[in-house]
Amino acid sequence: MTEYGPQPVERRMPTEEARDLLTLVRELAQREIRPVAAEEEESGRFPRETFTLLSESGLLSLPYGEEFGGGEQPYEVYLQILEELAAARLTVGLGVSVHTLACHALAHYGSKEQCAEHLPGMFAGGLLGAYCLSEPSSGSDAAAMRTRAVRDGDDWVLDGTKAWITHGGIADFYTVMARTGKEGPRGITAFLVPGDAEGLSAAAPERKMGMGGSPTAQVHFDGVRVPDSRRIGEEGQGFAIALDALNSGRLGIAACAIGVAQAALDEALAHTAGREQFGRPVSDFQGVRFMLADMATQIEAGRALYLAAARLRDAGEPFARQAAMAKLFCTDTAMKVTTDAVQLLGGYGYTRDYPAERLMREAKVLQIVEGTNQIQRVVIARHLTGPESR
Ligand SMILES: Cc1cc2nc3c(=O)[nH]c(=O)nc-3n(C[C@H](O)[C@H](O)[C@H](O)COP(=O)(O)OP(=O)(O)OC[C@H]3O[C@@H](n4cnc5c(N)ncnc54)[C@H](O)[C@@H]3O)c2cc1C
Repeated sequence: MTEYGPQPVERRMPTEEARDLLTLVRELAQREIRPVAAEEEESGRFPRETFTLLSESGLLSLPYGEEFGGGEQPYEVYLQILEELAAARLTVGLGVSVHTLACHALAHYGSKEQCAEHLPGMFAGGLLGAYCLSEPSSGSDAAAMRTRAVRDGDDWVLDGTKAWITHGGIADFYTVMARTGKEGPRGITAFLVPGDAEGLSAAAPERKMGMGGSPTAQVHFDGVRVPDSRRIGEEGQGFAIALDALNSGRLGIAACAIGVAQAALDEALAHTAGREQFGRPVSDFQGVRFMLADMATQIEAGRALYLAAARLRDAGEPFARQAAMAKLFCTDTAMKVTTDAVQLLGGYGYTRDYPAERLMREAKVLQIVEGTNQIQRVVIARHLTGPESR
């Protein structure tokens, strides 16, 4: 028998283990995450206990190798799990994506000793990470950063301010890009800074349009001393590491966006089937049906795009252009689909009693983070035409 209305997304998971992960995450989403999402986003409560649970369940380290406690899953699997989490609550999906981004530098560029010392806690030991690239005066032009790290014996001393840091003030570790040399991208080095380092402090969280449950704050480094053993990669390699992490991180944002869009479509399907006008469910009207059809098609197209990029990554092929395209398309899709969902709920859609308006506010941030969608177009165009002449 054909079922109508909201349905679990049909997913082709490649292994039995991946299918079990999907079952686990759907159960967690249903039991722990979705029921409190609306209330906690309104009150601004960060669900730290959910992240501890995800860490203990192996869901904070899915794409990393088993050697240090990672899940050893392909990106294709990790992203679909992320989509499910974001559909339940973006604060959780985005939080997992940012944590994964914060682990990237050490997992891919750290020495064996550094990995052995730090990764087990970051992967499955309940620690939560933050990624510090942006500053108050350098966002899109991140290579213009001013935060400095100056060598002092066996230590580095960090001074400066990072801006817009997801988990700022609550993270256990911060992956920080700081200037150690000349101006420009080649003078930047990456560091792993503990959350309780002396001289590290966070401002009050930003008062955002959405994602009230996810703290975003400036993080100040005031003479923060870290040993050279916490430098990741070579001196001057930090910006390349940061961009490499973002190529993968953008796929996470794309998957989160499709999760938000799917949640909005499900709301719209349920509401338009139950709401009657002119003696019929409004889902009977062609003007509504065509909107639902377009929303579902855009979501499928976005999902296919991020999965195609993920499969390139899993095969060890270049995927930066496809990742930028997936981030651009999926987040624009989330904005459009959530806006249409508000429209399809009519006046109810404009109230906080229904989730559609929250999903619309959440979708907006995904067009901005990890490189705005204009910057994604800059990246894609460079792949097509080469760098700009000036
Ligand atoms: C909720 C939230 C969470 C975030 N989390 C993090 C985090 O965890 N870590 C972190 O490091 N950062 C984080 N960010 C920062 C985010 O990555 C930046 O906001 C983003 O990169 C844009 O930088 P900006 O805000 O300084 O905008 P600007 O760079 O000042 O851009 C302003 C406008 O100009 C446009 N623009 C700029 N340059 C160009 C160009 N060359 N071509 C065309 N248009 C251009 C932009 O697209 C934008 O529309 C977060 C931001 C938000 C809002």
